[in-house]
Amino acid sequence: MVIMAETPKEICDNLTLARESSMIGNYESAEVYYAGTMQLVTQLIINITDPLRKNKWLQAKQRIALEYDRVKSITATLHSLRLNVGTNAPSGARRLPIPDEPVKDSDFNFGDTYDPDVWPPPPPGDGGYTVNRVQNGPKPKTKKKPEPPRRSNAPSARTSSSTSRTSSVRPTKGGKVERPSSSKSARNPDSNKVAIDKDIKDVDNEKAEKSEPEEEKKFECHGMDRDLVDTLERDIVQKNPNIRWEDIADLKEAKRLLEEAVVLPMWMPKFFTGIRRPWKGVLMVGPPGTGKTMLAKAVATECETTFFNVSSSTLTSKYRGESEKMVRLLFEMARFYAPSTIFIDEIDSLCSRRGSESEHEASRRVKSELLVQMDGITANVEDAGKVVMVLAATNFPWDIDEALRRRLEKRIYIPLPTQEGREALLQINLREVKLDPDVNLPAIAKKMRGYSGADITNVCRDASMMSMRRKIFGLKPDQIKQLPKEELDLPVTERDFEEAIDKNNKSVSQDDLDKYEKWMNEFGSS
Ligand code: ADP
Repeated sequence: MVIMAETPKEICDNLTLARESSMIGNYESAEVYYAGTMQLVTQLIINITDPLRKNKWLQAKQRIALEYDRVKSITATLHSLRLNVGTNAPSGARRLPIPDEPVKDSDFNFGDTYDPDVWPPPPPGDGGYTVNRVQNGPKPKTKKKPEPPRRSNAPSARTSSSTSRTSSVRPTKGGKVERPSSSKSARNPDSNKVAIDKDIKDVDNEKAEKSEPEEEKKFECHGMDRDLVDTLERDIVQKNPNIRWEDIADLKEAKRLLEEAVVLPMWMPKFFTGIRRPWKGVLMVGPPGTGKTMLAKAVATECETTFFNVSSSTLTSKYRGESEKMVRLLFEMARFYAPSTIFIDEIDSLCSRRGSESEHEASRRVKSELLVQMDGITANVEDAGKVVMVLAATNFPWDIDEALRRRLEKRIYIPLPTQEGREALLQINLREVKLDPDVNLPAIAKKMRGYSGADITNVCRDASMMSMRRKIFGLKPDQIKQLPKEELDLPVTERDFEEAIDKNNKSVSQDDLDKYEKWMNEFGSS
């Protein structure tokens, strides 16, 4: 894919395809299109100089990322359900409907919150997926009053109430749900449904037992805005982002530095006092798509800290007028739920150099509040042994002003993957797909010199979809839905990779790399 200067139309086309694929429940294609859209938007943002336009695109990117996250979360849930069906069910036992099986709209019962214009129907056997940013862990308990869906382009988060589950789970037509052997249930189709619901409840109970062993403490917002607290807990707190070090290819040095700078102080807060006090903040610098966000999530997962995932544009735009309050609250909650990691993505958009034209009043005030709060962190560690760590990421380190740079004491470079890293990335990305025996991964990795991790992921996704694309070419949606899975799930070949590499150019230029090198030589501290 050649990235042109004029990409908005391409972005819209990709996004439309992503949403359409989601609408027909083709989440894997949707993922590919979302990944492509994100890549195009990132590239476009890099080239935009007008700060207002840039900010608008950053906001758009954030919204698209949210949709993408949700699709990924659905795919992950579907995958885990598939594993569950494949590995746990004794032979001849009843099984849950497999999410990929063709279904009809009439198989669903959505209730009031489903908006078919903006989001695809949940698959059958939607075991009450919590379609939100918390993927795997317990969520802070918030008693929420019923409220209308907040965003028109997002699914309303489904809670795990058994009633919603009961209504959405039905055996699909055409005998998709195998009947239990008992004659009673064979006579009574309703008992089948009850049994399936019970299965789902059992699975959920088991999950709940594993993930919520004890009652969680709840942040009390003395005199603070309850809505703001709820918003933070819903959108920004992630208890378990579920990314482990081994999910991240290469980047050994970055992992080591993060471990030393973030993980160890969390494990040994008493040791890291006085002159050994932890760094106030760590800044990850590097080209887009090199794994900075993944590293932040891995830090939170590995240290089992509460993860506050916030992007600067969220703070300055979404909560306009409340931004400083939001920053204060963010740090207060982080201290309450300590040990915590606050991850601020795209910190450059908050902290463009003082006096530069893009620095408008709101972001200046937010930035000042951030500086004050970061200064407060160290005192808190020493006083109460509660560790709150700020991790920030930027693709534009040269836009960060001196005051903030000083607080982000540790500044580490997250580079493009090496040959070894590219091979590891290929292995990670292709874990779940069949490969033709002739495929030579080291040779493919060599061809992708200069590609970022995200570029490589895109190539893998594209390559793994090639045979499917050839199969469905020219078919109508109805015919596509009827295609048996075996016909689509063919091994990925060398030719698929070649085509995918041809379509996906690298997204980082040598000029960009030179700029990072220059900045790191001047300000790096790894
Ligand atoms: P950044 O924050 O640096 O822009 P991300 O962490 O969001 O990049 O990575 C974007 C995507 O690229 C990830 O979702 C993942 O699929 C892929 N990726 C990038 N780097 C790596 C890596 N080192 N290991 C595994 N996947 C990676």
